[in-house]
Amino acid sequence: MMASIDESSVWVIDLDGVIWLGESPIEGAADAVRTLQNAGRTVVFATNNSSLTRHGNEAKLARHSIDATDAVVSSAMAAGTLVEPGETVLVCGGAGVREAVSARGAIPRDEGPVDVVVVGWTPEFDFDMLTRAVQAIHGGARLIGTNSDATLPSATTLLPGCGSLVSAVATAGGVDATFAGKPHQPLATYIHERYGTHGIVVGDRADTDGAFAATLGFEFALVLSGVTGEADLPVAPAPDHLAVDLATLVRDLDADKKR
Ligand SMILES: [Mg+2]
Repeated sequence: MMASIDESSVWVIDLDGVIWLGESPIEGAADAVRTLQNAGRTVVFATNNSSLTRHGNEAKLARHSIDATDAVVSSAMAAGTLVEPGETVLVCGGAGVREAVSARGAIPRDEGPVDVVVVGWTPEFDFDMLTRAVQAIHGGARLIGTNSDATLPSATTLLPGCGSLVSAVATAGGVDATFAGKPHQPLATYIHERYGTHGIVVGDRADTDGAFAATLGFEFALVLSGVTGEADLPVAPAPDHLAVDLATLVRDLDADKKR
C-alpha cells in the first residue's frame, strides 16, 4: 500500500485539524508542507470553507508560513463549475461563492427570478434570505449547496454548517440540492482535471476526508491532530495510513520510500 505513494502523487491536504486547529497552527505542519513542496510534490489544500476568496485562502495559509499560491481548492470553486456562463445566480453565501460564480461568467443577483440558487455558509443567513431563495426555487431555479456539512466547529461551540442552511431551502423549496464540496463529486472532478488522478488525501475526519478520498480514487491518510482521536478508532472508511499528525505522516512515508 505504501509503495503506491510516489513522486507523481498529488497530496490533497485538509486544513482544519491538519494545518491548524481554529486559529492555532498544528506543530510541524508548515514544515511538513515545505518538505513535500521542496521534494517537488504537488500539494493542494482542499477546504469546504466557501466564504473566503481564492486570495483570502492563500493569505490565511501565508500567515501560517505556507506558500499556497494557486494551490487552494474550495467548495465555492467546485460550486462555480455547476453553473453555466451567462446564467443568473442568487448567491446566499460569502465572498468566495460570489467570486467563483463571477469567475465562471455567471451573473450574481440578490433576488430572483434566477436560473440557480447557490447556498454557502454565511452568518448573514436569515428569514429574509431564506424567503428569497425559496421564491427563486419556486420560480424554477435549481439548488446548489457548496457543501453538506451539518455543523461547523468554532473555538467555543458547534455552529450550524452549510448543510443545515441548504436543508432549510431544500425543505421549503421542495427540491433536492446538488452538493459541490468534499466528499462530493464536483470537487473531485475539479481536482482530477487540474492536478491528476493519482494521489493521497490527508484529513482528520473519515466521514468527509476518507469519503472524499474514495470519491477521488486516492489513498486516505488519517491524522489524529483534529476531531478524530485515538479513542475513536477504528473509523470507517478505514485509512490506508494513520499518523498522529502531518509531520509524522510525511516523515513515515518518506522513510518508507527510501527503504
Ligand atoms: Mg478537517
